[in-house]
Amino acid sequence: MTKQKILIIGAGIAGLRAAQVLSHASFEVTIVDKGRGVGGRMATRRFADTKADHGAQYFSVKSTIFQEFIDEAEKQHIIKSWKVSDRTHPRYICPDGMNTLPKFMAQGLDVKLSQKIVRIAHGVAFTESEEQYDFDQLIISAPIPQVLQLFEDSDILLEADEENILSSIQYDPCWAVMAKLKTFDNTITGGRILENSPVSWIVDNAEKGLTENPTITIHASADYSQSHLEENAEKVASELIASVSDIVNVEQIDTYQIHRWRYALASQRATARFLQLKNYPICIGGDAFGIGNVEGAFLSGEAIAQAIC
Ligand SMILES: Cc1cc2nc3c(=O)[nH]c(=O)nc-3n(C[C@H](O)[C@H](O)[C@H](O)COP(=O)(O)OP(=O)(O)OC[C@H]3O[C@@H](n4cnc5c(N)ncnc54)[C@H](O)[C@@H]3O)c2cc1C
Repeated sequence: MTKQKILIIGAGIAGLRAAQVLSHASFEVTIVDKGRGVGGRMATRRFADTKADHGAQYFSVKSTIFQEFIDEAEKQHIIKSWKVSDRTHPRYICPDGMNTLPKFMAQGLDVKLSQKIVRIAHGVAFTESEEQYDFDQLIISAPIPQVLQLFEDSDILLEADEENILSSIQYDPCWAVMAKLKTFDNTITGGRILENSPVSWIVDNAEKGLTENPTITIHASADYSQSHLEENAEKVASELIASVSDIVNVEQIDTYQIHRWRYALASQRATARFLQLKNYPICIGGDAFGIGNVEGAFLSGEAIAQAIC
């Protein structure tokens, strides 16, 4: 019997979880991602002899199914529990960088990187360089504005209710600065949430375990990021660094990088765990469905895979 071909767009937590379950259930699964590595917003960057998480910083676990998966990852030393200041119960981090969890999940899966899907037609997904991936069932876990663009470029026509669900989903953006310091007199104790500031969050990557060099990540607030979304990156970096000068001796900053997340956190989400299109063999999932974080992405991928099984 020929195996059903599943193509998954997006090697973030949602896509990888769906792939894990479906591969285990003997489907023929291929994941394509436009990035150079797996993980999507579970992102870690190497620069200037150091490392910093610039997307998700930690995650919580509330469901049994995610807890079971996390227990296994903890046994393999991929993750550890972590106490954030201002939070009472432990969260989890990856001491070697948040992208080690998606790398762990991708083991044994057929993942094609640097493959941006730009069009879908008659059971085939086409990349920018006109490579083709055929499928019986397609799962898309990209941020929804990018999914809507892909559908428009593919002449995929949505039913009115599908259009309503997808167009109601919204994301907060986030500017992220990663800075390596010469010395760091650490008063952050792990990570610190800031109120009434252009900065919402500052974290010490060395304390998380990523690097021996003092390296911080600064996340701008949703309001600041939204109102400065199209501004010059250098100007934004200077403003964000200046905003933490009462916490960090910014004179000690050796070098820094900045990254703009256009779709960081899904602020308006669909309540269902995924959307199956009525007229196409396409399921759409990811953190925009459900609780809107790493666990939500995992549960969305799981739900899609179980529905296909
Ligand atoms: C700055 C920031 C801070 C965050 N903080 C936290 C936190 O503290 N705790 C928490 O739980 N969550 C946090 N999150 C959210 C969390 O990272 C996400 O909810 C989760 O990682 C989303 O996973 P996903 O699989 O749904 O999507 P993604 O991780 O976005 O994966 C989607 C993938 O699709 C790929 N893709 C998109 N379009 C295409 C295309 N056309 N062709 C091929 N590939 C494509 C992308 O490259 C990407 O890899 C944060 C996110 C950011 C950005």
